[in-house]
Amino acid sequence: MNSGLKNIAILGSTGSIGRSTLEVVQACPERFRVVGITGHSNLELLAQQTAEFKPAVAVVSDQSQLRNLQLSDFSQTKVLSGQEGIIELVTRDDVDIVVSAIVGSAGLRGTWAAIEAGKTIALANKETLVTAGPLVMQLASDRGVSILPVDSEHSAIFQAMRAGRETEVARVILTASGGPFRNHTLEQLEDVTVQEALAHPTWNMGPKITVDSATMMNKALEIIEARWLFGLSIDKIDVVVHPQSIVHSMVEFCDGSVLAQMSPPDMKLPIQYALSYPQRWKGPAAKLDLSKTFKCEFIPPDYERFPALLLGREVAERGGTCGAVLNAANESAVAGFLHGRLEFTQIVSACRDVLNHHDYDPNPDLERVIELDRWAREEILRWKP
Ligand code: NAD
Ligand code: MG
Repeated sequence: MNSGLKNIAILGSTGSIGRSTLEVVQACPERFRVVGITGHSNLELLAQQTAEFKPAVAVVSDQSQLRNLQLSDFSQTKVLSGQEGIIELVTRDDVDIVVSAIVGSAGLRGTWAAIEAGKTIALANKETLVTAGPLVMQLASDRGVSILPVDSEHSAIFQAMRAGRETEVARVILTASGGPFRNHTLEQLEDVTVQEALAHPTWNMGPKITVDSATMMNKALEIIEARWLFGLSIDKIDVVVHPQSIVHSMVEFCDGSVLAQMSPPDMKLPIQYALSYPQRWKGPAAKLDLSKTFKCEFIPPDYERFPALLLGREVAERGGTCGAVLNAANESAVAGFLHGRLEFTQIVSACRDVLNHHDYDPNPDLERVIELDRWAREEILRWKP
């Protein structure tokens, strides 16, 4: 890696994390060169980003949209398309770090190819670890690749863990905002609309993760992500509801000391930390203002109203094919909810049913994982309450 400049590729540059990553780049122009960016559907934005950051490569991941990319200047940027385009980008010799910020298990192949090629990964795409955690972590270990978390909770844990040895960690405590329906009764949850589910109280994110936060499936996925990323057994992973989203997670050490990482809810900080690690830099993320009174509450989660959390614990414990099935079922069910096919509370019920009747395999290979991902999506389309 060039000592001064980091060469980065951003998968999913048109999304919420992708845009925040480009803000970090903009704030630290002497630190980065954007080698490549990718977008699936918002090609107007991809064209704007290409004009501004002049990457060597721009990838339209949805091949059928390629003709809609209108660049004013093609002289500096090579345009590629589809998964092949993503793979060509991440395996380029001049890429040091790949920011994995595509939503869903659609991000798995590009992340996998980047790890195979020995690139450092700044991982926002938690679905990659939920779907294929043990395989991905094994590949990273074989290739000597660092997977640096962008998810704010995992970034917080990663930072707090530096205060002690791995063997001294008693447990990690993931914080959860609780989403927009934190105080809803079971009956009120039955009537939730798409618009209500898309209005998150503290974070401004893409639609899929916003619905996941409302069902608390996001926290379930994060339990599984923590399981594989940090190699922790499930009895060492806890969740606490913290509505202010200022403490991003905590690590408790064996002597009872609890270390928390705090900052206002702004993804630019964990993105930047993944890119600056092992250093820290001045950056554009919002800072805590301690001149004003603010509250930090911690509330035990309610497993009855938010049964997704139980699914997360179960899947993290069983491993094998469970993660791929839960993740794909959830992606398909969330799409069903957003399109009016499923009700809000049916998202988690449908996931539970599909998980329960899948053909469990404790040690699947990547091919089997991808096959079950497809199967679970189709099962959700057939699912009836
Ligand atoms: P988003 O919907 O805003 O953006 C998704 C990006 O993926 C876009 O660039 C889109 O073009 C691209 N994309 C969508 N479908 C694709 C496909 N089939 N193939 C290739 N590219 C595709 O999502 P987001 O909120 O930025 O989230 C991205 C990832 O980061 C998710 O895995 C999410 O869980 C994770 N994450 C997000 C946040 C956040 O604050 N937004 C926080 C933590 C983790
Ligand atoms: Mg998170």
